[in-house]
Amino acid sequence: MPDFDIAVCGVGAMGSAALYHLARRGLRVVGIDRATPGHDGGSSHGLTRMIRLSYFEHPSYVPLLRRAYALWHDLEQAVGRSLLHRTGILEIGPAGGPLVSSTLAAARLHGLPHEILGAHALMTRYPAFQVPTNYVAVLQPDGGFVEAAAAIAAHLALATANGAELRIGETIAAIEPRRDGVRIVTDRGAIDSGTAIVAAGPWATKLLPDARLPLRVTRQVLGWFKPLDAALFANGRCPMFLLETRHGLHYGIPLAAEPGLKFAKHHHAEETVDPDACDRTVSARDEALIRAALAEHLPAANGPMVAANTCLYTMTPDGDFIIDRLPNAPRVIVTSPCSGHGFKFAPMIGEILCDLVSTGSTAHDISRFRLSRFED
Ligand SMILES: Cc1cc2nc3c(=O)[nH]c(=O)nc-3n(C[C@H](O)[C@H](O)[C@H](O)COP(=O)(O)OP(=O)(O)OC[C@H]3O[C@@H](n4cnc5c(N)ncnc54)[C@H](O)[C@@H]3O)c2cc1C
Repeated sequence: MPDFDIAVCGVGAMGSAALYHLARRGLRVVGIDRATPGHDGGSSHGLTRMIRLSYFEHPSYVPLLRRAYALWHDLEQAVGRSLLHRTGILEIGPAGGPLVSSTLAAARLHGLPHEILGAHALMTRYPAFQVPTNYVAVLQPDGGFVEAAAAIAAHLALATANGAELRIGETIAAIEPRRDGVRIVTDRGAIDSGTAIVAAGPWATKLLPDARLPLRVTRQVLGWFKPLDAALFANGRCPMFLLETRHGLHYGIPLAAEPGLKFAKHHHAEETVDPDACDRTVSARDEALIRAALAEHLPAANGPMVAANTCLYTMTPDGDFIIDRLPNAPRVIVTSPCSGHGFKFAPMIGEILCDLVSTGSTAHDISRFRLSRFED
């Protein structure tokens, strides 16, 4: 008999959610991470992550998002505090551009509430923005943010309350599929489990070198800017936003809890990095890359950068997720390559993993996340 039914390797956003859902269903589960939850070395750190219901990435995410919203609500009930805040989100870009047209397509297909603002209406209602006349904005009232650190803490606390074992400060050296289970070799010994869920984010390829996962880790930079005109960003006068510009796609989170307007370029730089050796300092060049769009479209926010940070995206070639068993080792399930947009789905991914382990399948449509799509 193995030590555990399931070993969850890595307990960031995805692993912590998986651990909770598995423990809640009564499975014997262990979560292993070499770093303390909340650490800033992976992809899940910080106060906030955006959540949206109409999804420009692809409309097929919308049913999964509906379930994610419901599960965030369940988690809030279970932990006794709010985690998901519906503040509304603006998606701003050229009319007919990829951001606006894809968001609208998803909203219309799924009948989601939204409002369309022309450039003039946008700048009148939200004077922080300056956009050309060919721009439009889609306001989706269900958009908002999840408290990232608090969400991971909630999943882990409830997981352990439901019987999960949590091993923090333990480094996994190897994941060895066996005939009837998986051996996890760590710096403290070996753990035998029936199934291994690999939620190691940027380290997935290092932990599964033989799986040849088609992943690329990229370095992202976030800046917090002190507005020159703070009144334009206070008291909900400027909602969270996505902004398509000639400098790329950016996002902004103006919240009192943050040290300034959190502003970043989605896909900051396209270079592939080693998560163990990438430069974590934020350079003047990094700042300049972010600032260009800020200066052009949010001049009232273009004050001093008061804080900055780096983070990692684990990219698949098509930007969709991977949630699948390894073809040659079906007791190993890979989950966390989320291409820079996975946090909002964490509890839903936890539920899917729980379904896969306990029943062998899931009612959620995860065909988009199969490994076999890369075979060609
Ligand atoms: C800057 C930034 C902004 C983002 N914004 C959003 C957003 O607004 N909305 C959204 O939905 N998503 C967003 N994302 C994406 C989202 O945050 C990620 O998809 C998600 O956090 C990935 O979580 P994870 O659990 O897969 O990886 P991680 O959080 O990196 O967790 C992996 C864990 O595995 C552990 N580990 C790795 N190797 C080992 C080993 N050998 N032994 C033991 N432990 C190991 C690590 O210590 C780590 O804790 C953003 C990401 C970034 C970087």
